[in-house]
Amino acid sequence: MVKKRPYIIAGPCSIESKEQFADIIPYLNANKQVDLIRCGIWKPRTRPGGFEGVGEDGLKWIKDYKAQNPNVSFAVEVAQPIHIELCLKYNIDVIWIGARTSSNPFSMNELSESLKGIDIPTMIKNPPIPDVKLWIGAIERIKNVGITNIAAIHRGFFTHNNYGFRNNPLWEIPIEIKRTHPDLPLICDPSHISGNRQIVQSVSQIAMDLNFDGLMIEVHPYPEKALTDSEQQLSPAEFDNLLSNLIIRKNSNTTPIELNLLRKKIDMLDQELLAILSQRIDVSKQIALIKADNNLSVLQINRWQEVLESRLHIAKELGISLEFVQKIMEQIHTESVRVQNDILKES
Ligand code: PEP
Ligand code: MN
Repeated sequence: MVKKRPYIIAGPCSIESKEQFADIIPYLNANKQVDLIRCGIWKPRTRPGGFEGVGEDGLKWIKDYKAQNPNVSFAVEVAQPIHIELCLKYNIDVIWIGARTSSNPFSMNELSESLKGIDIPTMIKNPPIPDVKLWIGAIERIKNVGITNIAAIHRGFFTHNNYGFRNNPLWEIPIEIKRTHPDLPLICDPSHISGNRQIVQSVSQIAMDLNFDGLMIEVHPYPEKALTDSEQQLSPAEFDNLLSNLIIRKNSNTTPIELNLLRKKIDMLDQELLAILSQRIDVSKQIALIKADNNLSVLQINRWQEVLESRLHIAKELGISLEFVQKIMEQIHTESVRVQNDILKES
């Protein structure tokens, strides 16, 4: 596993039916850039009642397809020892452990036990909570039972504010894994980080810029009809487009990884800044409605004076230029007055 860079894993979030399998697998197999096909067979759903996968039937379809196409390789998510048993029975090439499972040391112990004496390539996704030790612990449990071919998959984290991502990428965590485990292949799953297909390309590019070894991307023959993760799956045409636009930079020392990491931090901070500005505008609109009801003028000069003074005081404490903060506050205040005036005009 992971013999070329970038190593491309692609496939549907879930195998849904024999027809959907036949609509997507031959395309992925024919795509020369795809190294491994991913297939969800048992689906961990956050809430009960949803589609939970086709189970063993899907493994039979894979086996039949492989009988006709011996060079194709498949990866399947496992969460219980019975899943491993069935994957071995149907000669699945690679298994992966999902985020919900890697977060549970009891489950990891059980899975490791059933992998003893078997050397099947295994990929381990990060747990949903941003705890680097929990992820490393899951990897160690698999390594300790003798699995030699291991890769880590970064699929983002659940945080208080995900800044527009389904799962916050917190790039510093996979970078830390890379620093402490330089020989462990690191794959990025931009689909589960993004949660919507519009940003899968840009997240994939960030992963390439950060020297990830590969990508795991969800591809569905007709994403809008997908039974799971419909928003984030790419159509074959979108996937082709992503691959052809992906810039693979040389793994050289010219752009230090720290520089890329810091740039990503700036990107995230700007996103945060804009989200906060938008919240501030919303509050300002609520204030305008109260002013309208009470027949108060938009500009309350004493209040503005207090706001400015208090913000300059904070700026001083934080050690940022007072001139700069004054300019920003004036811009924000001007916009606030404009927005409130618009509301008062309408009321
Ligand atoms: C998946 O790969 O479809 C999946 C369930 O992902 P995760 O474990 O990252 O949530
Ligand atoms: Mn999925």
